[in-house]
Amino acid sequence: MNFKDYIRVIPDFPQPGIRFKDITTLLKDGPAYRAAIDALKEGVAGLEIDLVAGPEARGFVIGAPLAIALGVGFVPIRKSGKLPGETVEASYDLEYGKDKLAVHKDSIQPGQKVLIADDLLATGGTISTTSQLIRQLGGEIVGASFLIELGYLNGREKLPGIDVFSLVKF
Ligand code: IMP
Repeated sequence: MNFKDYIRVIPDFPQPGIRFKDITTLLKDGPAYRAAIDALKEGVAGLEIDLVAGPEARGFVIGAPLAIALGVGFVPIRKSGKLPGETVEASYDLEYGKDKLAVHKDSIQPGQKVLIADDLLATGGTISTTSQLIRQLGGEIVGASFLIELGYLNGREKLPGIDVFSLVKF
């Protein structure tokens, strides 16, 4: 399946000059959504994985079904102030803007093998911060899976030592 055909590009969103990759057109197509999750699972075949962790919000849409497909648990990485329990937090720069991510302190046990998942790898800021939080809790990152990779932003370079899997490259 050519997943690129299911992704809509919207110019000048959320600000002029950004060509936003809209995955809602893929998500609303049941067979395409399922095939994408299956393909992401295929991409990490052979890896030992205890948990999938994904950043809010589109990381949930990819990470949670991927965790179910792999038969492992899911850890939500959220914007600061949203998680009810004790958290660790880290700040980061976005492709457009700034933000702070948080994770529950007890969500990952030291030594657990964690696969990171998100819809899109742009500059790598989000995932680099996500990986910082996972490592702070003692988790071992075994890979990072994305539906889309914006190759021209070189996000991979911000993830040294992490195997990156992506289905669609722009
Ligand atoms: P990064 O931190 O620069 O790698 O940006 C990746 C994050 O920003 C992901 O969590 C994406 O959901 C979001 N993002 C950035 N650009 C786009 C886009 O074109 N489409 C959808 N999400 C985007």
